[in-house]
Amino acid sequence: MIQLHNVSMAYQSDISALNGINLKVPKGDFIFLTGQSGAGKSTLLKLLYAALLPTRGQVLIEGQNVTRLTRSQIPYLRRNVGVVFQDFKLLPHRTVMENVAITLEVLGWGKKDIGKKVYHILKQMGLEHKINSTPLRLSGGEQQRVALARALVNDPKILLADEPTGNLDDENKEQILSIFKEANIRGTTVVVATHDRRLIENSHRRVVVLEKGCIVEDSDVSK
Ligand code: ADP
Ligand code: ADP
Repeated sequence: MIQLHNVSMAYQSDISALNGINLKVPKGDFIFLTGQSGAGKSTLLKLLYAALLPTRGQVLIEGQNVTRLTRSQIPYLRRNVGVVFQDFKLLPHRTVMENVAITLEVLGWGKKDIGKKVYHILKQMGLEHKINSTPLRLSGGEQQRVALARALVNDPKILLADEPTGNLDDENKEQILSIFKEANIRGTTVVVATHDRRLIENSHRRVVVLEKGCIVEDSDVSK
């Protein structure tokens, strides 16, 4: 469960990127965060993986108050949170295998288990034949699937995605969307920030609309 209580965030003292946000995302939900550029989508996601602290209010992830974590506790939060970005953020000089293995190496997994698990997820993503390629030799859609494999390889409780299909064509968008849906079916809570209307309309999931740092619409019928 993700909960935001009266969350505000200002990068500079006079300008609010987020303003009094209240939001609950139950475990296992799949939501889209949308709104124009500058509405505060990225800022909200950054609060959820503790890349930023709110200026006011509280952010709770699985009952834990993220605003009270010490620096050394943040890695424990991030074990449960996979993140993907529009520009993939892959290591260009490492292989696909190595890019995905990083997640498990950080968690202290043994080499043999890492090999098995990484192969398994790359196969799921249809990338087993690219295991020894470097990201620069892959298409945009393939690079995003590697980034998703890296984010999902340890079965995180939460997956956050910031404009994950921004650079992709329709066919690749569909593929990425179905990976989100599969992860969600396996129990991962999914939060996708995007201004891609078609992606949202095709998915039939809850939509939360931000405008100038405020929630102006929420399609959640249970609210
Ligand atoms: P979105 O993801 O919806 O495009 P952002 O969360 O990136 O919106 O930005 C929300 C507001 O915060 C915008 O007005 C933006 O200019 C501002 N902002 C974002 N990042 C920074 C930053 N690092 N420093 C100052 N202002 C920022
Ligand atoms: P800072 O040095 O400002 O504390 P962070 O440690 O918050 O920076 O983040 C460093 C980079 O790693 C940022 O680009 C951030 O978006 C990214 N990042 C943070 N958490 C995760 C995560 N769980 N998975 C993937 N990338 C992450």
